[in-house]
Amino acid sequence: MMKIIALIVAAGTSQRFGTKIPKQYSLLNHKNLLRYSVETMMTHPLIDTVKIVIHPDHQDLYKKAVKGLELPPPILGGHTRQESVFNGLKEIDPSSCHYVLIHDAARPFIDHQLITDLIEEVQKNKAVIPLIPATDTLKKIESNGIIDQTLDRNLIGCAQTPQAFEYRIILEAHKKACHLSLTDDASIAEAANIKVYTIPGREENFKVTTLSDFKRAEAVINHSYEYRTGQGFDVHRFMPGDFITLCGVQIPYHQKLEGHSDADVGLHALTDALLATLSAGDIGHHFPPSDPQWKGADSTIFLKHASQLIYEKQGHIIHIDITIIAEAPKVGPHRLTMVNRLADLLQLSTDRISIKATTTEGLGFTGRKEGIAAQAIATVKLPVIP
Ligand code: MG
Repeated sequence: MMKIIALIVAAGTSQRFGTKIPKQYSLLNHKNLLRYSVETMMTHPLIDTVKIVIHPDHQDLYKKAVKGLELPPPILGGHTRQESVFNGLKEIDPSSCHYVLIHDAARPFIDHQLITDLIEEVQKNKAVIPLIPATDTLKKIESNGIIDQTLDRNLIGCAQTPQAFEYRIILEAHKKACHLSLTDDASIAEAANIKVYTIPGREENFKVTTLSDFKRAEAVINHSYEYRTGQGFDVHRFMPGDFITLCGVQIPYHQKLEGHSDADVGLHALTDALLATLSAGDIGHHFPPSDPQWKGADSTIFLKHASQLIYEKQGHIIHIDITIIAEAPKVGPHRLTMVNRLADLLQLSTDRISIKATTTEGLGFTGRKEGIAAQAIATVKLPVIP
C-alpha cells in the first residue's frame, strides 16, 4: 500500500507577527491557526499520518492546540525552517512512507482538492508544488531601490505549500543542502537537480505572515459563516425519589424526575436546541426511547452527541441560554455548578452559558409541583454550505 505522510511545519517564532502568542497558536475564530491545516490533512482520505514539527519552547501551547486530535508525538524543530523540515523528514520511518507533503502551518486554508491534485501529480513526477501566477508587473531592483529591469511575469510565480515529494528524494536533497540556507523545499529539490513540477495554487491558500494577513484570514472565515438559532423545550414529571438531575448536576430532593433516561430536562431542552441549529431532528430521533440501551442513560451523552455533530460540521457554539421552569427545588444555589458543568461538557467559556430559573406563580403543572419544564435557545456559527 502506498503511504503518504503530511509533515506540517509549525516551529516558527513569528518574528514578523508581533503578538505574544506565536501566530500558529493564535486563535482564528475560536480555533488556533495550526489546527486548520492539521484537521484538513487528517481528514483527507489519502493521507495516512500527519506529523507536526514544533518549536521546543512551544510544547505546552502545542498540547493545548491539538487537544482531542489523535496525532503522533510532535517533532522538535531546529533554528531555521530548513532545519525543522529536515528534523521532521529524519523522524519518518522510510519503510512506511512513499510520499511526503510538506506544509507550513501558516497557511490555514488548504483544501482537500489541492491535496488530491498534488498527490496525483507527485506519483507521476516525484516533486510538485502549487504555484500562483504573478498578476502585478514585476520589477527587479538594485540595492539602491532603483529598477534594474522589468521581468516577464509569465515566467514567474509564487510558491505555496503543501509541496509534495517522493520521500526518498527529498530526504536525500535535504541531506545535501545542509550547508545552504533555503526558504522552501522546492529550492532544496532544485539544488539537488530534481525537476520540480507545478500545479495551479489557490488564492485562498495564502500565507499568514503579518497581522494584516491575520485580519484577512478572519475576514475569509467570517464571510463563510452564518449564524443559526435553535430552540428546545422539554418537560418531565416528578415521582418519588431522592434527587433530580438538572443540567448535568444532581440536586438532592425528595422526588426525582420520571423518564427513560436520567430525565435531565435541562439537558434535553438544550440538546434539542443544538440539534435544531442543524435542522437535525430531535433527541428522540437520535436516541429512541424505545431503545433499551438509553434506559437510565446519562443525558450528557445526548448533549455531547449534539455538540459533536456541530463540531463535525466545523461549527461553533456561540451561546446557550436555558430557562428552568419549576416551583421547586430551588435552582439558584446550583446555578454556578451547572454553568461550570456545561462549560466543561461543551468546552465553552462560562460567559457563553446562561442558566436561569423561574416559577409560574403557582399556576399550571409546574405551579402545582407536578414536574419541571425547561426551554433552551442555542446560537451557533456554521460554515455556509453553498
Ligand atoms: Mg426529555
